[in-house]
Amino acid sequence: MLDTFNQHGFAMDLVEKTPTPFYYYDMDVLRSTIDEIKRCTAGFPFKVHYALKANGNPHIINEIMHHGLGADLVSGGELKAAIEAGFPTQDMNFSGVGKTDWEIRFGLSYDIGCFNVESVPELDVINQLAQEMGKTANIAFRVNPDIDAHTHKYITTGTADNKFGINIEVLESVINHALELPNIHLRGLHFHIGSQITIMQPFVMLCDTINGLLDHYDKRGIHFEIINVGGGLGIDYSTPDTHPLPDFESYFNTFKNHLKLRDNQELHFELGRSIVGECGTLITRVTFVKESRNKKFVILDAGMTDLIRPALYEAHHEIQNLTSRESTQAVYDIVGPVCESSDVFAHDRSLPVTHRGDLIAIRSAGAYGESMASRYNMRALPHSVFHTGN
Ligand SMILES: *Cc1c(COP(=O)(O)O)cnc(C)c1O
Repeated sequence: MLDTFNQHGFAMDLVEKTPTPFYYYDMDVLRSTIDEIKRCTAGFPFKVHYALKANGNPHIINEIMHHGLGADLVSGGELKAAIEAGFPTQDMNFSGVGKTDWEIRFGLSYDIGCFNVESVPELDVINQLAQEMGKTANIAFRVNPDIDAHTHKYITTGTADNKFGINIEVLESVINHALELPNIHLRGLHFHIGSQITIMQPFVMLCDTINGLLDHYDKRGIHFEIINVGGGLGIDYSTPDTHPLPDFESYFNTFKNHLKLRDNQELHFELGRSIVGECGTLITRVTFVKESRNKKFVILDAGMTDLIRPALYEAHHEIQNLTSRESTQAVYDIVGPVCESSDVFAHDRSLPVTHRGDLIAIRSAGAYGESMASRYNMRALPHSVFHTGN
């Protein structure tokens, strides 16, 4: 049977027969996104890791693994998922400020490619646990470069006042300390300055900082096998229909043009949102349309428990009515059923006149959507469907 697609590219047979709310993943969009990454990195010593925290759905992880990307992990649970999906353990990075002993042992037992170490206490514990297990831990230091990525305050990670990374002023003494530890193999330097970054200037500043550090450590005869610039490339939340692919070309060109990589040095990336953001849509049904004195509300069967980004970061998502046949528009607040005033997907949004039972698409929800879902109000977790066209 041939699928019928609506004007936004949704296979409507699949959408209409699936109980709402659910995540709809367009696997063709995911594949073309990864193909674009491959096109932009071919011929360069670049290795892209997928940050599993953006979307840990096993189907999504599996697809990405089969395209040869590595895995960026921030918990033992993600490490387990990456092992189950079959990522090569040498292509796994483990980041995070609070790795517990079992998580470190778990990573050591698989000889993972790199622990991205965020403090001296963590370094000492990794060394000690590696010693107990007769292992050598591969590590990189996560450096806090004090660069403001000009994004939302909850997703800026690279300024001196936030909890992530090692301040650049003390890096030298920390490196000296690491070089004396018997069970530590220092492989590289790691950076991650924030998320949903859509201008290149913060990445250019990052390259300048790294160039300065490399010049300095060259003089000391210290070579880093790996420079890891983290993730953070943003996606277009406003026009997903016309811009389904992130601007990988400008992003990778920024590093090709500004970063002076040394011989025998690999450049690693840890992309999350830009890989999975646009392939996912939250599909939900209108439970009620309600009017108060000044407002019209569309009340959905999806809420902040299914997609928390608008409530948490005041994030914008395009919202489309997939089934309305009305030709006139009306302005609505689009809300969920959860007992919190912040359970709002959008204020004052124009939609075709909307009725109970209409199907609504909340777009660009593939990253930090399903992976942040909760069971608050004892709601069920959203389920997922996967559409492949060709
Ligand atoms: C979250 C995270 C990423 C991925 O960030 P995106 O903005 O989704 O690309 C990469 N590296 C680290 C260390 C992270 O914590």
